[in-house]
This record gives sequence, structure tokens and C-alpha cells, in this order.
Amino acid sequence: MLKNHLTKKPPGSLRNIKTDSLALEILKQLGQHNFQAFLVGGCVRDALVNLEPKDFDIATNATPDEIRKIFKASRIIGKRFKLVHVFHKQKIIEVSTFRSSKVNAGDDDQEILKDQQGKIVRDNSWGTIEEDCQRRDFTINALYYNPANQILFDPHNGVEHAKKRLLVSIGNPLRRFEEDPVRSLRAIRFATKLGFNIHHDIKEAIYQKGSLLNSVSTARMFDEFNKLFLQGLAKDNFFMLDQFGLSKHLFSTKLGEEGSFQRRMLIRSLENTDERVRSSQSVTAGFLIAAMLWPKLVKLSADKEEINLKAFYRNMDFCIGHQMVLTAVPRRFYGYIKDIWALQIKLQSRLGKQPIKLVGHPRFRAAFDLLLLREQCFSKSEGLTEWWLKFQNSSRAQKSYILEKLYEERKGTEYKKFGFSEEIS
Ligand code: ATP
Ligand code: MG
Repeated sequence: MLKNHLTKKPPGSLRNIKTDSLALEILKQLGQHNFQAFLVGGCVRDALVNLEPKDFDIATNATPDEIRKIFKASRIIGKRFKLVHVFHKQKIIEVSTFRSSKVNAGDDDQEILKDQQGKIVRDNSWGTIEEDCQRRDFTINALYYNPANQILFDPHNGVEHAKKRLLVSIGNPLRRFEEDPVRSLRAIRFATKLGFNIHHDIKEAIYQKGSLLNSVSTARMFDEFNKLFLQGLAKDNFFMLDQFGLSKHLFSTKLGEEGSFQRRMLIRSLENTDERVRSSQSVTAGFLIAAMLWPKLVKLSADKEEINLKAFYRNMDFCIGHQMVLTAVPRRFYGYIKDIWALQIKLQSRLGKQPIKLVGHPRFRAAFDLLLLREQCFSKSEGLTEWWLKFQNSSRAQKSYILEKLYEERKGTEYKKFGFSEEIS
């Protein structure tokens, strides 16, 4: 039974929550089958602080098998963390069973397994709502709300902390971050997203336990990379991570010295990603990785004032490999990153008739975008992006004319073949 003294009157922002119709239907049906069911996690938190919830997760005391029986269009997913996807047309709602932190020795399927560092590797021990709550990371993420009957379950005072705009851990953060080191990244992400202060206990735990991020799988780190850097707050997140000494767990390149090309390029790449998110343009981790690693690739491949092409191609794998030690780089991005790097050389050299073919290259747009970022970071623009813009928008005949003109201009002068001097110095 739900302990009544732990339920509270929901504030106005929650009473006005615009719940997704499928989520409402699921809550209703679970209730009709005498199960407890609530919206939980990010959607309740975001609605509470007047942000638009991005997805609606449900928690219930029904087991995955029981949920499956109620909803025909559903599927049990996950092994480490079993839950049910209920779907209708294109929509999917995640329904998870309340969990406890008890170790049910003997029952293989419902056990919590921890590794030697205390990290949870399997987590399928069913429990009560109170126990489920206890396992969540921060008090504002441990709010359970049912819009049908307006019951709010908030035993850790999440609403109070939201009012104070303070991120508070459930339980001792030192122990909680040992259990799951990713919580330190989550703390930073929620602080920037919500504009909350981080409780000093959490700050201390980040300093002390941040290095445990080394032990998190690269696949999970890549997921966090996407959440931190592709949702419109890349720059804020990067700087806060850097302050806490955590950027080195996500970026295989350093911020670089004040005024350096590396620093300008890293900041510009983050800003550019944020601008694109804000104007609803597509963003990919592949492009961001290509942009942030570019200065490192150039530096490593420099030979006096020029780029040594052999080294350049060899160092591509080296640079991506370095990043893959931290975060996975999915296969689909590997070729993409290398293509847009290789195209930088061609965009610069513009030899013979090559430019005509280049504008039709499937990665031309992305490569051009990287060139644009690079030029924005130069102290003196070489006018290359302008040249390419003009070239792209010209007719076939004009293109030939532009190329002839370029050839004439270069004739007799000892032009630098690849001219990366500013990036190299
Ligand atoms: P987002 O807006 O990024 O989706 P969220 O809070 O919904 O934020 P999810 O990763 O979707 O984050 O997780 C849903 C909920 O599950 C969280 O609100 C939190 O209660 C719980 N949770 C998720 N990850 C953890 C974790 N690593 N440790 C403890 N609780 C977690
Ligand atoms: Mg969520």
C-alpha cells in the first residue's frame, strides 16, 4: 500500500501537465487491474519546472509479465534492466516495474549483481514504490505522479528542492557514485539543463569519484556523450565538466591554451552544435567528434608549414582510436569522420577539375561545414568558404571559368599546396 503521509498535493505545474494520451491510457488500465502506476522520472521533473517533458516513463508494481498480459502491443526488453515497451502506432512508452535494492540470492532472474568495484551489472529485483524511489539518483528524479487521480508521491522532497533550485542526491552521493559513476555526469547535465545549483555533497562526490568513469563501458559513455553534447547545452556542459575535471573522460582532446587554435575550434564546435539544435538543424556525434579532433590531427601531421599527407591519413585512425578508448565511436561514423577530414585537403587544394566532382560528393556538405568552422577560428580568413559558396552556386560554364581563373592566379607563384599554416603554428 502507498503510505498516505508520503503523498502530497501536487503544485500547479504538475496539475497542468500535458500527458501523452498513450501514457494516460496505460496508467488507467494498470489502475483498473488494481496495480499502482505513476508517471516517473524526467517527465515529472521537467513538468514541475515548466519545461516540456520529452518522453513519458511509467513505473508500476506490476511485473513485466503482468504488464505484458494487459497490453497486447507490448514487448519485454533488456536483460540487465528488464522493462516493457508498450506501443501504439509510432509511439512507445516505457513501463518499468518498481525495483528494490535487495539482493535476492538464488533466483537468477531477479538478482542484483554487483562487480568488484560495487558497480551494479544486473538489476532485476522487484520491490515497492518506496524501495524504487530509494534507488533513483536525485530527489527531483524521484517524483511519482498520477495525473488521473492527481496523487503525487515525493518522499525525498523533490518538489521542495526544485523550488530551491537545488540538485540533491538520494543517499550518500559518495556511495551512490561508486555504485554508478555515470551519476556524476548526470548531475552536471541536470544542473545545466534546469539551471540548478549542485549540493556541495554532490560536488565533493564528483571530485572524489569522478575518476571511476574510467570503468564505465565505452558504449554507455557514448550515450552520455550524446545527451551532454547534442541537446543544445554542449558548451555549458563542457565547461562545467571541465571545471570538475571530467571532460577528459569524454573528449580525447584538451581545451587548449587561451587564444590557441585548438581552444577556439573546440569552443566553436560546441557553440555551432548548440546553434544547430536551437534552429532544429540535424546534429551528429560524428561531426562534433570530427570537428573537435581536427586540430589534433593537423598538429600531429604537421611537417614544417605543411601537412605530411602520409602522416595525415595514418593519424586519422590514431585520433579516432584515441577517442574510442573513452567513448565508443559507432561504425557508421568512422568512415564519415575520415571522409570529412580527407575532404579538407581537397577543399583547400582545389587541383585541376577536382572541385567539380567534389560538390557532388555525399559528404561535401559536412566537409564544407567543417571548413566553415575552421575559417571562423582563423585570425585571418583565406576566403576559402566564400570561394566554395560562389563555386557551388555557379553554372557549369561559370565553374570552368572560375577554375581557369584560379589556375591563372596560381601560375608562376609558389603557392602553398595545402596552406594549413595557421592551424599548424
Ligand atoms: P532525460 O531528460 O535525460 O530523459 P531522465 O531523468 O528521464 O532525464 P532517464 O535516463 O530517462 O533520465 O532515466 C529516467 C529515470 O530513471 C530518472 O529520472 C531517474 O529517476 C532514474 N535513473 C536513470 N538513470 C539513473 C542512474 N544512473 N541512477 C539512478 N537512477 C537513474
Ligand atoms: Mg527520460
